[in-house]
Amino acid sequence: MLELECQDIKFLPGVGPQRARLLNDELNIYTLNDLLYYFPYKHIDRSRLYAIKELTADMPYVQIKGQILSFETEGEGRKRRLVAHFTDGSGVVDLVWFQGIKYIASHYKVHQEYIVFGRPSAFNGRINISHPDIEPAEQLTLSSMRMQPYYNTTEKMKRSGINSRTIEHFTSTLFQKFETPIPETLPQWLVDELHLIPLGHALRQAHYPATADELRRAQLRLKFEELFYVQLNILRYTRDRIRRYRGFVFSRVGNYFHQFYSDYLPFALTNAQKRVIKEIRTDMGSGRQMNRLLQGDVGSGKTLVALMCMLIALDNGFQACIMVPTEILAEQHLETFRNFLGDMPIAVELLKGSVKGKRRQAVLDGVRDGSVQILVGTHAVLEDPVVFQNLGMVVIDEQHRFGVAQRARLWAKNVWPPHVLVMTATPIPRTLAMTLYGDLEVSVIDELPPGRKPIQTTHRFENQRESLYQGVRREIQRGRQVYVVYPLIQESEKLDIKNLEEGYEHLRQVFPEYRISKVHGKMKAQEKDEEMQRFISGETQILVATTVIEVGVNVPNASVMIIENAERFGLAQLHQLRGRVGRGAEQSYCILVTKYELSKDTRQRMQIMTETNDGFEIAEEDLKLRGPGDLEGTQQSGIAFDLKLANLARDGQILELARQKAQWILDNDPHENHPENRMVWERLEHLRKNQVNWSAIS
Ligand code: ADP
Ligand code: MG
Repeated sequence: MLELECQDIKFLPGVGPQRARLLNDELNIYTLNDLLYYFPYKHIDRSRLYAIKELTADMPYVQIKGQILSFETEGEGRKRRLVAHFTDGSGVVDLVWFQGIKYIASHYKVHQEYIVFGRPSAFNGRINISHPDIEPAEQLTLSSMRMQPYYNTTEKMKRSGINSRTIEHFTSTLFQKFETPIPETLPQWLVDELHLIPLGHALRQAHYPATADELRRAQLRLKFEELFYVQLNILRYTRDRIRRYRGFVFSRVGNYFHQFYSDYLPFALTNAQKRVIKEIRTDMGSGRQMNRLLQGDVGSGKTLVALMCMLIALDNGFQACIMVPTEILAEQHLETFRNFLGDMPIAVELLKGSVKGKRRQAVLDGVRDGSVQILVGTHAVLEDPVVFQNLGMVVIDEQHRFGVAQRARLWAKNVWPPHVLVMTATPIPRTLAMTLYGDLEVSVIDELPPGRKPIQTTHRFENQRESLYQGVRREIQRGRQVYVVYPLIQESEKLDIKNLEEGYEHLRQVFPEYRISKVHGKMKAQEKDEEMQRFISGETQILVATTVIEVGVNVPNASVMIIENAERFGLAQLHQLRGRVGRGAEQSYCILVTKYELSKDTRQRMQIMTETNDGFEIAEEDLKLRGPGDLEGTQQSGIAFDLKLANLARDGQILELARQKAQWILDNDPHENHPENRMVWERLEHLRKNQVNWSAIS
């Protein structure tokens, strides 16, 4: 393997400097080893030949062998197509091409034996195969009659004539030319214990398996290895961090907490809130620095949990700080805290980008001399001029993308790192949490405050708006308020605002008797705040907005959420938006408005939304629909290596096993000196060296 890592891809027969450059630029393949690890995205079983008379339109892929009887061109203009009548003696199928007609007609000859491969369909009562793979029958042994690998290539590569078949030639050359055995990368005892196949075999079979079962076994071995090293890295990092940093000990729960609990708390805590506060309290008293993820569906009451835990910090003579993604949310938290705390003598202040000059300086001075006890702010709190007198706890709200490296920046804010609580309403499926946040403990609020009615969600098409507005009018007449949200189109902010402006004008015509607020990202912060405030105070009945309101905004009186162009949103985002309503005791409604023509995926998304309110279920479905590659890169978290084969949506069991084995090794070989594990530590070191992001933290 090391040998292959040193060999430039351009020296592989058939590649050469020009194609090598494309492989470098387009697929990140620089060495023979990179090619070895460039796995097919699928295999198609070509081990069998069908007789034409057996073919039906519902077969996925078939392979047949026979001759072209004749060519014909049919249709005119854009409908023009080339048809080849193809027979094997048992029957006739039509092979059809809509493109490349000239090339096909001149390239393939009648009355010669070909192998044809493709997907049959029915057209005009006959079976045909459009754009089949076709090759001379004498090449049969080269690529047919087996599990054929399919490799991804880019448009640019295809234009230069490098397609899946070309890569297939490269990998098969690689396996033919390099017979040197590939050294094992997992300890032998582990390979034996789990009945894994050796690395060398697994790599070959991941490209060229003899059977589907062999492919599965090869992938299992490779996925396990990927996940094993990711978990080993995370667990080892966590262990070292715990060894290296002590945590402030919050040994007591004092006056602030007790007084708040007995005299100021406006309602009873839910059992889940109580349990979570206890977990956090235990953590903060343990002498270890807390790094905890608090998951709880929208509206489950995380803000209050955060506040009460911050009071414990204050009780022990420390300051606390809460960081949120937007200024609107920061203001709202400030207000929420001040309302909750009433006349308790606790100084809560706000720091945000748009506060400048003297006012900013006053806040900074207070933070430095300790007179500000709780600081609420955006990312501004991370900046260097923000110096705390004695910061003991940091809450990070609604920013589950806040990675290891960013969290590490907080640690420099005191002599020991403050306790960290990350809160998110975007439920993270367990497999993803173990990879992105494998270094965090997890607490879950799995219960909503009492009296909440589940939100009723419906899906409507654009042309059904009129009936929708009747419902809106009814709700407003009852004193409720309404959100109407438009998607933020990142590539085209102009278009984005145009949508919103048109919607706003339209609603003004439909509802001349009501007042409407409008909020979008291009507005000045102050203007935005004022408009938001008008809605929060109840002065306006309808709020038209882009997704700036996505996270955290709390207006319990709002009972209707209309999401326009709902097809443009992902599941997680739809769920977040929906969570803006259903925060009071009233029945709330969410209406997803889409155009009429929808892709299968979109229809499925709409269906999931109308069927469940459960954020965890939605997150699991989301992961399945989108695949983990689409989620914010695991790399970005700063802790996981790139996953080539393992799929966090589907390989949960392998992940659990990998984590368990990694933990076992750490526990049983803590000094990393058992000879039978030597290769494990070497391999880990090697992977870490090739991981750029990792260097940011350790
Ligand atoms: P999230 O978890 O989405 O951040 P919030 O903290 O904004 O939720 O809480 C949603 C609403 O529920 C707020 O109005 C809050 O005051 C209220 N709330 C929180 N805890 C309780 C409780 N135990 N009983 C009743 N209402 C609660
Ligand atoms: Mg919140």
